[in-house]
Amino acid sequence: MASLGCPYTCEFCIDAAVPYQPLDTGPIKEDLRFLLKKFRRPIVAWHDPNFGVRFDATLSAIEEAVPPGSIHFIAESSLSVLSEPHLRRLERNGFRAMVPGIESWYDLGNKSHTGNLRGMDKVKRVAEHVNLILRHIPYVQANFVLGLDSDSGEEPFELTKRFLDRTPGAFPGYSLLTAFGQAAPLNREYQRDGRVLPFPFHFLNNNQAMNVRPRHYGWREFYDHVIDLTRYSFSWRSLLRRFRVNRGVVPRWMNLLRSVSSEGFGRLRYYRGIRRRLDTDRHFAAYFEQETTQLHPFYVDLVRKDLGPLWAWLPPGALDHDPTAWLESPRSALPAPASRTGPAARRPGLAPGTLRPSTQPVLQ
Ligand code: SF4
Repeated sequence: MASLGCPYTCEFCIDAAVPYQPLDTGPIKEDLRFLLKKFRRPIVAWHDPNFGVRFDATLSAIEEAVPPGSIHFIAESSLSVLSEPHLRRLERNGFRAMVPGIESWYDLGNKSHTGNLRGMDKVKRVAEHVNLILRHIPYVQANFVLGLDSDSGEEPFELTKRFLDRTPGAFPGYSLLTAFGQAAPLNREYQRDGRVLPFPFHFLNNNQAMNVRPRHYGWREFYDHVIDLTRYSFSWRSLLRRFRVNRGVVPRWMNLLRSVSSEGFGRLRYYRGIRRRLDTDRHFAAYFEQETTQLHPFYVDLVRKDLGPLWAWLPPGALDHDPTAWLESPRSALPAPASRTGPAARRPGLAPGTLRPSTQPVLQ
């Protein structure tokens, strides 16, 4: 890590509330020199939330420590950092994979260097930028958050498809909007509005469960759009185009393997299963609609399967937590909602399930 926190303030992000703090470059240089003594061509992944904010200082430290290209680097950075002169310098110094966050076509223009551009105008500008990155860095994953409050209707999903058409070489990384306890400022508002579902922490990995009810979509409509976009992103047509335009053996095969494994095809299968259950299973749909907090056996079985022999040691209550715990804590400054349990408690005749006292929130 070369830094902690981030100077940007994307409200959904767990790093938005952490002040940006560059770390001392001395130990970074020592570590890189040490690695080069131990391995012939090490691969180093920078774990900064936003790598290269102090670009010159960080790159100068790398250049002083090791010969250009002797280490292969991977980093996550915002588009605003990735100007062409910066990309040339990154390329020279062995950066092989870059993960820029695009997140939304309507919001967060500062970090993507698109100012007030929105919608299709932003798609065009960002696509040009990502293609520029691909000319210097062979592997690019473009990250998006699905279900942000600024999204409504099919347009955001269609815009992402147009982006994919224009940047066939980039691998799309989708995250379902997720509230991680007290980690992001926006989570308190979701809690105040009664929109946080008590999915166990086990599923809060941005994909297996979305624990924030979307503002502008019903669950069925939302999952229809997610499925459609995932299918488009990992169709054989998209895969072949990606394979053809990617440079180098590793980027080509890595993208292909990620697409046909659990990340592409597997996720599509999983989302289709969720969508089907929303139509066919009353208990399943009721949990999503916050009419009950009783976790569906489908999810309990998934945890049991994932934990294997460790399941026996899972303490009672470990799958329950209070999704409004932050709001009720003395640290919360927002007014509490009318009901502690949200819609579940306001609908007569429906089982509210179990809400346990707060457990330790999981940070991403
Ligand atoms: S999403 Fe990226 S740019 Fe925005 S606050 Fe988080 S780390 Fe910074």
